[in-house]
Amino acid sequence: MNLDALTEDERNQLFEIERVTMFYLPRICNHCANPACVAACPSGALYKRGEDGIVLVNQDLCSGWRACVAACPYKKIYFNWKTGKSEKCVLCYPRLETGQAPSCFHSCVGRIRYTGVLLYDASRLPEVLRVPNQALVESQATALLNPHDPEVITQARANGISEGYLEAAQKSPVWKYVMEWKLALPLHAEYRTLPMLYYVPPLLPTMGKMEDGKYNHAESSFFSGLKQARIPVKYLASLFSAGNTQVIETVLKKLMAVRYFMRSQTVKDLDARTVAGMLEEVKLTPELAREIYAMTAIPTVYKRYALPPMHREEAIGATCSPETCKGGAGFGYSQPPKRGL
Ligand code: SF4
Ligand code: SF4
Repeated sequence: MNLDALTEDERNQLFEIERVTMFYLPRICNHCANPACVAACPSGALYKRGEDGIVLVNQDLCSGWRACVAACPYKKIYFNWKTGKSEKCVLCYPRLETGQAPSCFHSCVGRIRYTGVLLYDASRLPEVLRVPNQALVESQATALLNPHDPEVITQARANGISEGYLEAAQKSPVWKYVMEWKLALPLHAEYRTLPMLYYVPPLLPTMGKMEDGKYNHAESSFFSGLKQARIPVKYLASLFSAGNTQVIETVLKKLMAVRYFMRSQTVKDLDARTVAGMLEEVKLTPELAREIYAMTAIPTVYKRYALPPMHREEAIGATCSPETCKGGAGFGYSQPPKRGL
């Protein structure tokens, strides 16, 4: 990198980034809606399952070209030198098919992982990607469909989506995080693979300082701490919002407002009017702040995982006639579902 080409501010920001950005970002395959790995595979071994969007490698078809290893910008495909096949996260589909959360979600001691159904309009995907980086997060979100909208529900039923899936989409904590609260963001949206895993940017403890030997939380301007955040907003923007710092600032302010609001309710050492002003600035009501707190801090396992009942027989019927696929009528639809709203 040519440091001389940077402005003084940019140089300071860079050194700041090098000095302080140490945090752990747990990453698995994003099960992208526009997966580069699938597009790159010359053998047709990689595919995205129609019924739930999980991206898998058919081990029988994989010829070991490793085009997927090079294509995935997240580096989430691994080549097994013993078998000569590519491997990847399977979102623990055998667990999902038996109503259990994926293993790493279930076993996460920090309880940071949530899973749920998101409905999206596949026909709009090319259009939502053809926007400048700064607008990507907002643009991608417009492809997601509101599972409470009667028109979406009617069309989803016509498309063969089961009642169980619809119910799971309505209860989905992911829908709340991504669309209702707008707290969770896609990782490196600028890759334009439409990642379907979302991250809440980390809010580090920037809001306190030592004064007269005491730890003081009551900043004169509560949101001023963002400027001195241990992880610079610009760096977080390079990870979670394709460089748009405004998006990150809004999320962090919301998280701070919820934290201060809950502190004002429990510890009661903050001025109620100031906290009400903070909530107002980020367009949160006390009810919403409590809802976000409950989902982030004390959710039960049933709130964190809204898993639909999976019917493999329906999934097969949804993509081709059971007669052709399974050699017998059995269960499933005989007519393929129609796409589009
Ligand atoms: S993260 Fe990589 S391996 Fe996973 S679906 Fe996206 S492109 Fe494929
Ligand atoms: S535990 Fe399951 S969901 Fe998690 S990374 Fe491994 S395969 Fe993927």
